[in-house]
Amino acid sequence: MKEESTLVGLRRYAGVKTILLQNSPETLFKPHLLERTFILLLLPMFTLASVVISIAAAAMGNATWFERYQLPPTAVVFAALLVWALKCRPGCTQKVRLATLAVGAATVMERLLIGLWITGTEGLQPDYLTGIVPWSILGACLFVFLMHKHGLKFGFIYYAVGAVGIMLFLIFNPYPLPEALQQDLTVNYLIATPVFLTMMAGFSRLRLAYGTALTKAEDFEDLAMQDQLTGLFNRRAFSACMRRARARQARKGSPVCMIMCDIDHFKRINDTYGHSKGDEVLVEVANIMTGTMRRTDDLIRWGGEEFMILMEETNLDAACQVAERLRALIEDSKVIRGGVTASFGVTELYKGEQDTEFFNRADLALYDAKEHGRNMVVMRRRRKAPSNPSVQVVAELIDGPDMRLS
Ligand code: GH3
Ligand code: MG
Ligand code: MG
Repeated sequence: MKEESTLVGLRRYAGVKTILLQNSPETLFKPHLLERTFILLLLPMFTLASVVISIAAAAMGNATWFERYQLPPTAVVFAALLVWALKCRPGCTQKVRLATLAVGAATVMERLLIGLWITGTEGLQPDYLTGIVPWSILGACLFVFLMHKHGLKFGFIYYAVGAVGIMLFLIFNPYPLPEALQQDLTVNYLIATPVFLTMMAGFSRLRLAYGTALTKAEDFEDLAMQDQLTGLFNRRAFSACMRRARARQARKGSPVCMIMCDIDHFKRINDTYGHSKGDEVLVEVANIMTGTMRRTDDLIRWGGEEFMILMEETNLDAACQVAERLRALIEDSKVIRGGVTASFGVTELYKGEQDTEFFNRADLALYDAKEHGRNMVVMRRRRKAPSNPSVQVVAELIDGPDMRLS
């Protein structure tokens, strides 16, 4: 029996949110990129069509004003848009979509206005009725379709009504129609429009499916990475947070620090005031952290009464000051009569070290804080051993009155 694919999470892939599926040979589901492909196919199609029509019309010697003066600049604009869209990163789909819509809408509006102007000066031209009007309405439907979920429905309703009308007209019209007009009606409306609409229908289904899957995956991931009691990240978010912090460190060369925090004698709080009061203390400590930290800092409930903070663009001194501020705020909080205190271990991420080395150093610093009497901040630096600076690494407890902040 074929196993069902299940959502396992989200990942950014080439700047695009992609859904990770289990049991799928293609673990990365990237339909968002298909929208880009669709636009990148549409643009050369329009460019080529504009060029071919104007060259063919000129060669046959019966080019209309529109074919002579309108299509060549349109082709240039679409080609320029295509070159720009190709240069944009795959993540910029939204930007490319908006630019395509803007150019499409401008082209349609311009044709409608010029058609009206020609109608005003030379009377109603057949190609205005058979070409410009239906395609303008279709262009408007495409615009609504890309912006609105019911856009495609409007497109089909418009087509169905128009197709029935045109067929009745072609069948029952008692007067002979010029051949060019009949061809225009058949090609533009009865053939090109359904092809275009079918393409859009397939594409819209894909987009809807992707939207739904993305929402599900986001809910799934939020739940999986969020601690239910405090609303902070849970331990599972650690590697994702580390990846982001490392990426920023690599890009900007800025320091990354970690603060580990553990509430002192929490077991005693539980035993004295009850488990639910203990929970209130945890929420209060989480709120103090959320209120103090920057939006770019990651707050993680590591487990029980232990918290981790990852700080980007923060050096060790600044991280110690933040930890000290948190320590003082927790000490001053009035959530339980006897008061609450917490101990802190602080360290900095060194280039090339593993997540575990970084974490272990912060954890050791926290252990030092507990050992030296709790309710204090201790930081640990890494120091290279003089005998073999490239390999051996020893941790040093910064343990002096000026270093111990409390
Ligand atoms: P220390 O100062 O050395 O950190 O001592 P401590 O009592 O804080 O540490 P210990 O690890 O001995 O106890 C932690 C307690 O936290 C034990 C556990 O019952 C409690 N705990 C863990 N998770 C929760 C929770 O979600 N809610 C509550 N109320 N208590 C919890
Ligand atoms: Mg504790
Ligand atoms: Mg603990």
